[in-house]
Amino acid sequence: MSEKLDRLNKLPLRSDLVGREPYGAPQIDADVLLNVNENTHGVPAEVREAIRAAVQDAVHGLHRYPDREFTSLRTSLAAYLGHSLTPANIWAANGSNEVLQQILQAFGGPGRSALGFPPTYSMYPLLASATNTEYVSGVRSEGFGLTAQDAAAQVSEYAPNIVFLCSPNNPTGTALGLDVVEAVYEAGERSQTIVIVDEAYAEFAKAGTPSALSLLPGRDRLIVSRTMSKAFALAGARLGYFAAAPEVADAIRLVRLPYHLSAVTQATANAALQHPRELLANVEDIKHQRDRIVSGLRDLGLEPADSDSNFVFFGGLRDSGRVWQGLLSAGVLIRDVGIPGCLRVTAGTADETSRFLNELEKLVQGERLVDS
Ligand SMILES: *Cc1c(COP(=O)(O)O)cnc(C)c1O
Repeated sequence: MSEKLDRLNKLPLRSDLVGREPYGAPQIDADVLLNVNENTHGVPAEVREAIRAAVQDAVHGLHRYPDREFTSLRTSLAAYLGHSLTPANIWAANGSNEVLQQILQAFGGPGRSALGFPPTYSMYPLLASATNTEYVSGVRSEGFGLTAQDAAAQVSEYAPNIVFLCSPNNPTGTALGLDVVEAVYEAGERSQTIVIVDEAYAEFAKAGTPSALSLLPGRDRLIVSRTMSKAFALAGARLGYFAAAPEVADAIRLVRLPYHLSAVTQATANAALQHPRELLANVEDIKHQRDRIVSGLRDLGLEPADSDSNFVFFGGLRDSGRVWQGLLSAGVLIRDVGIPGCLRVTAGTADETSRFLNELEKLVQGERLVDS
């Protein structure tokens, strides 16, 4: 055991945290970073300029606490989402990870449980454990699908306090049908289950993919979570949000820290939202690069999953660890999500995507790592 860990373990730490390692994707420096599903195309110039002006303005008021209710930002977010949502339906925090943590603080906790369907976003069990909420792993069908019937049956069986549905799902990239959300919500009626639909990648979905936002009317236990970290290219600004019944936002007000959204964060997000068209200008190209990856991988004999997001999950590798390492040695960092034979790659710029596909081709052909 390292000396550092030794010293940590001497502290009167909460017993369930003893021996734990902090979580996070490896922060490795590489030429081409395609590992954490960021928007590789950057913030468009007009949006950068608007943010700069708004932050400069906010600087004058930094001696005061920010608007605790971030009313102006909630108004902009409601306008962006449409679906007749009002500011009362909106909540925001420092990234959707914090939003999810607040939901668990309000609706989970000791003696309560949350159900997820792995492989899915790896933060769900970690947020559950940090809030002392029991995490229950549901099962998917082969090929990582999830049918309405299967999902609803598991909700009825476990009667969890919270269900996580991730659509499009990370790491597999595929969107869920709204029938799954409806069935899960209905199955949770008896247990009054809170249903979270995590739509972090909604803007990348194929045209015609409906959002669970359309299901909100009349469903007071449904929460649709979004983020500005992916399509909006603002991962560094830390702004996640949800839409739900106003009383859900009121529940979160019971656990949020006062002034949790800094004046700089509010100014940044609000300024960006005044330019939704420019903000989303690169989404079409990202979807194009994603589709290039899917067909490129198929040409190599690999097995990419259908993707409605800005990343592609693929299998068919004999030794995914070696391919991951080989790509890294060639300057391309992608993600090993811990599923044998599979890797996940974020859509890059045209050049980054070409570089990934070329390096992968060399590895696959040169070392013949593909199962035949
Ligand atoms: C990236 C991601 C988020 C966003 O996290 P932020 O804290 O908003 O940056 C949320 N959910 C899923 C499934 C993600 O992949």
